[in-house]
Amino acid sequence: MSEQEPDLNAELDEISYPIIRLLREYGTPRKELLAFGLFGGMFGFLISLIPPTLFGTAIDTVFGSKALSLPLIPGSLIPEAQIGQFHLIIGLIVASYLAEGVLNWIRGYGLNAFAQNIQHDVRVDTYDAMQHLNMDFFHNNSSGELMSVLNNDVNNLEEFLSGGATVFVRIVFTMLGISIILFSINWQMALVSLIAAPMIAVFTYWFVRTVQPIYSDVRDSVGKLNSLLENNLGGIKVIKASTMEEFERGEVDMVSKKYFNTNWRAIKTRIKFYPGMRILAGTGFVLTFIVGGYWVINDQAPFFFTGTLSIGEFVTFMLLTQEFIWPMSNFGDFVNMYQEAYASAERVFGLMDQSQQEEEDDGKSDLRIAKGVVEYDSVTFGYGEEPVVEDLNFTIGSEETLALAGPTGAGKSTVVKLLLRFYDIDKGRIRVDNQNIQDANLKSLRTSIGYVSQDNVLFPESVQENIAYAVNGATMGDVVKAAKKAQAHEFIQELPEGYDSEVGEDGVKLSGGQRQRIGIARAILQDPEILILDEATSDVDTETEIKIQKGIEKLIHDRTVLAIAHRLSTIKDADQIIVLDNGRIAERGNHEELLEENGIYAKLWKVQAGEAEDVSDYFLEERQ
Ligand code: ADP
Repeated sequence: MSEQEPDLNAELDEISYPIIRLLREYGTPRKELLAFGLFGGMFGFLISLIPPTLFGTAIDTVFGSKALSLPLIPGSLIPEAQIGQFHLIIGLIVASYLAEGVLNWIRGYGLNAFAQNIQHDVRVDTYDAMQHLNMDFFHNNSSGELMSVLNNDVNNLEEFLSGGATVFVRIVFTMLGISIILFSINWQMALVSLIAAPMIAVFTYWFVRTVQPIYSDVRDSVGKLNSLLENNLGGIKVIKASTMEEFERGEVDMVSKKYFNTNWRAIKTRIKFYPGMRILAGTGFVLTFIVGGYWVINDQAPFFFTGTLSIGEFVTFMLLTQEFIWPMSNFGDFVNMYQEAYASAERVFGLMDQSQQEEEDDGKSDLRIAKGVVEYDSVTFGYGEEPVVEDLNFTIGSEETLALAGPTGAGKSTVVKLLLRFYDIDKGRIRVDNQNIQDANLKSLRTSIGYVSQDNVLFPESVQENIAYAVNGATMGDVVKAAKKAQAHEFIQELPEGYDSEVGEDGVKLSGGQRQRIGIARAILQDPEILILDEATSDVDTETEIKIQKGIEKLIHDRTVLAIAHRLSTIKDADQIIVLDNGRIAERGNHEELLEENGIYAKLWKVQAGEAEDVSDYFLEERQ
């Protein structure tokens, strides 16, 4: 065998059998728990067959005339007297139930611990893989879809590993145990009793085949419903502002109706299955009763059967025939759980296997920043085939500020994202202190660049933690110092619990201006050599505006800044302004030079400064 073959096989295995991969990668470290659970399941289900069998035996022996002999128990231990035998049987039945209880506990503990641990590991690993993926991945996948992988899919795996495994062990070992007992008592009767088994198998197969595509439609429509609801709740402001409530009610009604219809189809199939199972199971039971009954009444084999059958054996047959029906009917559940887990594991591993920018980064050197000179050298980039920014050339000197201006969609945010390597450029180079950022590892690049954005995310933690985010070991003193510079200290002190106040959904509500200043404090504390500033002017009163401005001045002082021009004062004082139009540099210079040029910038400026009355649509967009 050549050396490659095993590898190739292993690879194929992983692609086509995600469940095997799941067990191999996540199950192996916890195989003891699995073995513990399977051991409990196997013996628990086998032992559960002892009481009905003993009951049958007792009828013939203790209550009948046959001599009592029991497998595994030496004849010398079996009492002679009827009452002694009766007590022995009672003892054995009680012991079986106790043992079954203990074994069921072992099964529950082992399989659940196994499944819960894997669920936890898979969720953390999937999340971690996800957060290292490139930005375009998040652009192409809605957060609802990703949440569904982290929640539903990971939960499906857990359910399969505990519930599915239980059903599987029950089916295999009850069937096996029952077959062995019945065949050893009377093989001909065993055939009669088990005649329903293949029919049940075929019927279950039919059910699974029929219901599977319907289930997949149900999942589809539930996914659509969830994403509609999520989008609508997220965009509730827009819906209300546009008075589209009536329309959206109709949309939800339509999508929910689709879900209703597919789900109803699934239910209609399912409610045929259980009565069908019952009828088939009943057939086996009735046949066993008829044949066994004639056999016992006539005390001789009916029809074409041969041999003997005692009343006790007949009772055992009746009891055990009942026992195997329900595990069999669970077979449909098992197949269902397996298929769901299979699809979920495919999605989970599909996500984990996405190529990560950071892996390609292995071995790249750290970015070393001395002066913080940023250079865009003939940079071209597009999200798809079409370039969004083209042939950009500019340099931001040490401690200089460069502001990007231009209408919406001109490519300003894109230019910024390229410096952070959220996307890799198609042509040209971006250098920081003469090092190509492509050759530096992402971690060192991103830790040396601060990013203050318009949607300044606050985590549901205390104000202090929010400011100290990304700075390990920041002391309270550092945090307060940064907050003071950012003009945030005053309002933070007035919050109910000061720096310990929780913010975010359940915490204190902060105004746009307050959130911005916390973002600025965070960046001041982080103290990066290079700063990206994408701060929006929000509707704040003049006093707050002045405070924010002061904070920003402190923040951009003595570092290299690439700013998206939102604030007039930041633009005005910038060392350079670049006006982008359709991804290309249309104008460049400082504020005065550009005003003199009387081109796009001059018009934009007038609009923003409120000097222009005649506002063309082109520039109006910029103000949105
Ligand atoms: P600006 O910041 O100047 O408003 P952007 O850089 O956001 O402009 O966008 C420039 C162009 O790139 C726009 O046409 C926009 O639709 C497109 N674009 C932005 N982000 C993406 C993305 N993740 N995928 C595809 N196209 C994008």
